[in-house]
Amino acid sequence: MAQPLFRAPVGTRDILAPESARRRRLVRVFADLAERSGFGLLESPVFEDVGVFQRLGEANDVVTKELFEFFDKGEPPRHLALRPELTAGVCRAFAEHRPVSPWKIWYSGPQFRYERPQAGRYRQFEQVGVETLGTDDPHADVEVISLGVRFYAALGLTRVRLLVNSLGDSDSRSAYDAALTGYLQSRRGELSEQSRVTLERNPLRVLDSKRPQDQPVIAEAPLMVDFLSGASAEHFASVRAGLDSLDAAYEISPRLVRGLDYYTRTTFEFVADALDTAQNAVGGGGRYDGLVEDLGGPPTPGIGFALGVDRILLACDAEGAFAGDPAPVQVFVVDTVGGQSAAVLCDWLRQAGLGADRAFDGRSMKAQMKRADRSGAVVAVIVGPDEQAQGTATVRDMRPGGDQHTVPTSELVAEVSRLIAAAQPRPAIPQHRRQDRD
Ligand code: AMP
Repeated sequence: MAQPLFRAPVGTRDILAPESARRRRLVRVFADLAERSGFGLLESPVFEDVGVFQRLGEANDVVTKELFEFFDKGEPPRHLALRPELTAGVCRAFAEHRPVSPWKIWYSGPQFRYERPQAGRYRQFEQVGVETLGTDDPHADVEVISLGVRFYAALGLTRVRLLVNSLGDSDSRSAYDAALTGYLQSRRGELSEQSRVTLERNPLRVLDSKRPQDQPVIAEAPLMVDFLSGASAEHFASVRAGLDSLDAAYEISPRLVRGLDYYTRTTFEFVADALDTAQNAVGGGGRYDGLVEDLGGPPTPGIGFALGVDRILLACDAEGAFAGDPAPVQVFVVDTVGGQSAAVLCDWLRQAGLGADRAFDGRSMKAQMKRADRSGAVVAVIVGPDEQAQGTATVRDMRPGGDQHTVPTSELVAEVSRLIAAAQPRPAIPQHRRQDRD
């Protein structure tokens, strides 16, 4: 009976080389920038007690509909969930360890949301982010936001816009909530059915609706900026002045309310104009001055962001930025006399710090040369019966018009190093387009 063919679960995918190498390099660019700015890496669990995420808000889709929840085998079983984002886990870690403030951390890793998959929207996706806990100094907001701005620039992206808004503190928020609820109730009949449901649970989230029917109502809704308390307005002004002083371009977006409920004061989003509107949010964040306390810690202000790696790479593709890596294999050893010479020569070359690969299964010279070409190597080393008898190897320059010559194996590493230093690296070949049968 035929075995079932398993596929990656809906909304997940395998990321093959060289795209996987490009993603890791993107994370390294982010890590460098974050670490040079004084952020240390936090590695936290991929799953947490479900209660950690429930603090994100009762009216939140991420919590009510999108959590991957499960029970473990404990007695009694614990109710756990895969993390849909990292800020809540970071705040849980802060409450648990009480590190010295301000605590500046960066992270990267997979997040899980049971969403309807589409282009740029997955059930497992990767984020990088930073969080600064323990200060509400507007300079901390500026440091975090500008780190995001500089990161996109470091990747070579030129069409990412920064949108900023302030959601105010709890005083501003209750005055605004009252005004907004009154307004939305007065125009309830014009709203979509989904937004009418949202209105009962969390009026602010109605502003997040992308449904065309809701847009005329949203366009005339009262604005948070008109309800900011003196302290919140001053904080927001300082953040804007700080961004101005760094020449970090931004737009004020008075209706930006971000999906997660815990935000207070500064909120922001990065939008990639090279992508369709359904997937153009490439990152976002804000202040969450009550979250650590909600998780049992001391009152602790915090600000951070999460950037979506999958979508950033789509934006890079659309802009032709952050191209793939050169092939990691620089030299390919072709051995037609049994494979032992390839083992030894690859070992020497690798120990010398070069990228070296070989074929297996005693394939023909032609098949091995084809492999050498696909590997992206700039040099092929060939060992056949003559070379074996003479203790030599033939070194072939793989570039068009490149020549070949024979050297004693004792000089091989030096000769290959010389050729590689002189050659332009070749791009890596996507694995999923490789023909594995010759
Ligand atoms: P959020 O926490 O929802 O603001 O997400 C922050 C960033 O993560 C977004 O701007 C997206 O770039 C990315 N993101 C969120 N959800 C998904 C998803 N389901 N698939 C891919 N990327 C996502």
